[in-house]
Order: sequence, then C-alpha cells, then structure tokens
Amino acid sequence: MVFQSTSALLFKMKIAAKEKAVFLDRDGTINEEMGYINHVSRFRIFNFVPKAIRILNRAGFRVILVTNQSGVARGYFSEQLVRELHHILIKKVEAEGGHIDKIYYCPHHPTEGTGIYRKDCNCRKPKTGMVDLAVKEFNLDRSASYMIGDRYKDVQFASKAGLKSVMVLTGYGRGEYEYQKGTWSQQPDFIFNNLLEAAQALSGLNRAEAENNSH
Ligand SMILES: [Zn+2]
Repeated sequence: MVFQSTSALLFKMKIAAKEKAVFLDRDGTINEEMGYINHVSRFRIFNFVPKAIRILNRAGFRVILVTNQSGVARGYFSEQLVRELHHILIKKVEAEGGHIDKIYYCPHHPTEGTGIYRKDCNCRKPKTGMVDLAVKEFNLDRSASYMIGDRYKDVQFASKAGLKSVMVLTGYGRGEYEYQKGTWSQQPDFIFNNLLEAAQALSGLNRAEAENNSH
C-alpha cells in the first residue's frame, strides 16, 4: 500500500516536471551563412554540430530547431528543398549518436510572394509561434530553456519568447558583435565562439544546477 502510493506520487511528479530545451537557429548557427540556402550544395553544416547536439541530448535538453525560410514564399526554392536539407541534417546528427527532437520552420512572408505562403502568420520569427507550439508539445519550462543564434535579432527573439539568449560568433555573429554591440539595448545572456562551445557550457551549467538541487 505504501509502495503503491509512493510510486503514484513519483508518477505524478514526473508528469508535472517541466522539461528544458535548447532552441537552435539554423543558418549561421548550424550551417555556414550563405544567404538563401536555395540548393543542397549551399547547405554546409559545421563539422562540430553533431557533437554539440549529442552533448545537449546527454545533458537532458530537448533540442529544437526554429528557422525562418521565407525563400519559399518568395519563390526562391521549394518547401520540398527545406525538408530535404533538414533530412540531411537529421541523418548527419544521428550518424554520430545524437538526435534533434523537432524542427519547426516558417515558409511564409507577410508581403512577399503569392499563394498560400504569403501570409501574416504567427510562426515567422520574431513572432513566437514556433516556440509557443514547442512549449506545449514538450511541456517546457521557458525560463530554464535557451535560444542559440548568430544574430542580435535572435537575442531579442529569445527574450520575447521568455528564453535565455545565447549568441554564437559564427555566421553574422562575429561582425554584429564587433561592430554593433554598442547599439544593442540588451546584451545576450551568454556569448560563445560557436555551437560546440555553447553546448559544452550549457551542459556544464545544467550539471552544476542538478548538483545544487540535490544538496
Ligand atoms: Zn509562418
């Protein structure tokens, strides 16, 4: 009887416990900044990405990609290409023992293009639709979750979505940081050279918190 009620309690706690996530921007963070990635040949994933994602997986974070791909609405490439690129990324990460929990992308643009993709949607960053969806789907604790990106706009997006901000200096990052940081109205919570360094630091922080909580 005692055993049963204890396990029921543990079960309830497990259901109630919120998870943490690391949200990742794509272009400039995961792959080299090349403007619109309108062909597989322009999708150059940084070599440290699978390892970085594996580190985040093992640290207990959900790993979720959130990317604007308005090139679809603009008619520069197809939604099929976006899915193909993401398939390549998923396979590459899995080949090294990691996994991406979910990829959300926004193919829309409010004023460009025609047809179904020309839409004032809720998913195009800096709107928070993609994160809001993930928060529900994975029962996430926003305040314990992070957004990693290479642009100052990712920092602003993070704070709008209730996430901690991590800026990486790949892609546009180094240039924005060197030449524009004086104009920023808020600073990133963390700055790292690249996604691997960010992943190592966040997993270390997570471990330290877990040890603190157990004392
Ligand atoms: Zn959208």
